[in-house]
Amino acid sequence: MVDLTGRVALVTGAARGIGRATALALAEAGAKVVVTDVAKPIAGLDYETGEATGLEETSRLIATSGGEAAAAIADVRSYDNLSGAVTTALDRFGGLDLLVANAGIASWPKTTWQATEAEWQTMIDVTLTGTWNTCRAAIPAILDGGRGGAIVIVSSTAALKPLPTIGHYSAAKAGLVGLMKSLALELAPERIRVNTVHPGGTATDMTENDAAERWQATAPGVGDTLELPLPIHRLEPVDIAYAIRWLCSDEARYVTGTTSVVDAGALLR
Ligand code: NAD
Repeated sequence: MVDLTGRVALVTGAARGIGRATALALAEAGAKVVVTDVAKPIAGLDYETGEATGLEETSRLIATSGGEAAAAIADVRSYDNLSGAVTTALDRFGGLDLLVANAGIASWPKTTWQATEAEWQTMIDVTLTGTWNTCRAAIPAILDGGRGGAIVIVSSTAALKPLPTIGHYSAAKAGLVGLMKSLALELAPERIRVNTVHPGGTATDMTENDAAERWQATAPGVGDTLELPLPIHRLEPVDIAYAIRWLCSDEARYVTGTTSVVDAGALLR
């Protein structure tokens, strides 16, 4: 039984999807959770990102199931926003032990090499630099606690297996593996573990919108690669949340520097 009683967690991108499911799963195991999200549209995307109402709903769901949550709006492109969210954890809950760097975006250029500079840069800014910002804002607080901790970075199977046309996403998600491994080495002496989780196709607003569905149906070489060996169409956010929660727990106390794949067997093909 995973027990996170007495731990404080911070989750980015928690207004919905995998972030919300993770915040709920951590709270269910006893952690107090600071939930954060950009909570406004991001310029240039073909789908809506999470909203402030979604972030409030995540907090409400945690509270109604007996947990404790605090919400902070934070764009991961802003170190200052993230520092504010960390301060919320310290002020409200007295420390920080667990970090889930989950916020991310999707876009679907015609090909990787024809992506616009804006598509490329926004992807790198949010997904790669945003995760680095999240880590550098949170790590001093985790270190100050002096009781170890865990960081889980949400990458993707796209970091490990090529998908045509979204090389900007694959590059950002593969970059997270390098970031994770350096942090895992640097923080091991302080008993802070760092791992990546690599979801396969998961049913969220990122995959279930018109632009994503058009890409899945029409981009050359994409459709077949999304068929899963296990007989499901997509994973559910909770499937990813449980893997993240385990990595955050003492059951995984000697697991660090790893790339955990949760993909219904997608990488087998
Ligand atoms: P989602 O769009 O439902 O949730 C992502 C959340 O991140 C949204 O609430 C959004 O508002 C937030 N966000 C986006 N940009 C942000 C920013 N700059 N600052 C703060 N928050 C920001 O999608 P999801 O599927 O739940 O995605 C969560 C993570 O899982 C992402 O990193 C995504 O790349 C990854 N992932 C998803 C899938 C999938 O199939 N859904 C597969 C592999 C990896």
